[in-house]
Amino acid sequence: AHVSRGKQVVSIDGTEIEDGGERVINLDHGDPTMYERFWQQMGDKTTFVISGWQYISYFSDVTNLCWFLEPEFAKAVVRLHKLVGNAITKDRYIVVGTGSTQLFQAALYALCPPNASEPMNVVSAAPFYSSYPLMTDFLKSGLYKWGGDAHKFSKDRPYIELVTSPNNPDGSTRQAVVNRNQGILMHDFAYYWPQYTPISFPADHDLMLFTVSKSTGHAGTRIGWALVKDKEVARKMTKFIEINTIGVSKDSQLRAARILQAVADSCDRVGSPEEVQPFFDYSYILMEKRWKQLRAAVKKSGLFSLPDFPSKFCNFSGRTFESQPAFAWLKCEGEIEDCESFLRCHRILTRGGKHFGVCPKYVRISMLERDEMFDLFTERLSQIKL
Ligand code: PMP
Repeated sequence: AHVSRGKQVVSIDGTEIEDGGERVINLDHGDPTMYERFWQQMGDKTTFVISGWQYISYFSDVTNLCWFLEPEFAKAVVRLHKLVGNAITKDRYIVVGTGSTQLFQAALYALCPPNASEPMNVVSAAPFYSSYPLMTDFLKSGLYKWGGDAHKFSKDRPYIELVTSPNNPDGSTRQAVVNRNQGILMHDFAYYWPQYTPISFPADHDLMLFTVSKSTGHAGTRIGWALVKDKEVARKMTKFIEINTIGVSKDSQLRAARILQAVADSCDRVGSPEEVQPFFDYSYILMEKRWKQLRAAVKKSGLFSLPDFPSKFCNFSGRTFESQPAFAWLKCEGEIEDCESFLRCHRILTRGGKHFGVCPKYVRISMLERDEMFDLFTERLSQIKL
């Protein structure tokens, strides 16, 4: 992992790995800083002050199955889903997590039978989110293990399939691919928001993960939520989080509640005189601009290609548009076999196809950086020649 610091690139532990010359453009991570300007424009509307005496208990609502869930946060989640129409919340348990990353692990724990003779296979269609295999195998659990590309899964055994839609890294709209009796599905909807893809239906699956990281850009707040149909699964997920971190930061949940309310308010103003641009307009327009800019740069260079997406109607915005994902899945055309190394020579840091279970001709590029970095990137990409 690397971070850029001015003209240098340093690894997370601080060692310098490159210096001098052209500025390094780091688009390896998906750090969603591009919404920063929107939130700056909101000024104090989303400022949330917590006094020293407030929210000091471990408990939020002991009458709720998820006893550390802040009611204000749950209310904001339900309101936003209803407004956007991207997920059914009726008759669902909400489990809050420290990012959807914690909920992913809680869900694996909750979905696996405790006494199986061997670990459950966890699969996802390649290219899959690079953290799935890492998170699944990190602690060498006896309950589950990474089973690889769902397209290649042929065992006649129970399995968990992760369905990410729109998908990280390639932005495709996805459904389960294994479709066998003994399968359990987990749907990761981190990107099922109207700035990235048309909202064509309210998702209605057994276990759905969401996060503020990619919806509003508040990755640092570390808040995600799961919508869970089955009470026992929700109870076990809650238990996992209780054992793991004894709940989830109230400060963060309340901040996230305030942010989600602000998003809903901005989109839900009927006849209000206030001049606030709806968040999903702002973010849609920005993503649209960036994808146009990227496609023009790719065309100009002539060395790369990008996926195309079908045009669909969005029930939320009333627009018909092609997905404009949070990541670009760039392919090196021609002889270049290792796209990540090739771009690295041009001081552009990306994540290569191997991390996502496919060949190194592909790289994933974050579309969510600040404007300055993104402009620099498209300018440099457009100039690349063999
Ligand atoms: N799922 C997917 C598909 C993601 O891309 C990400 C973030 N990169 C996450 C989950 C994790 O999100 P969080 O910040 O909520 O832990």
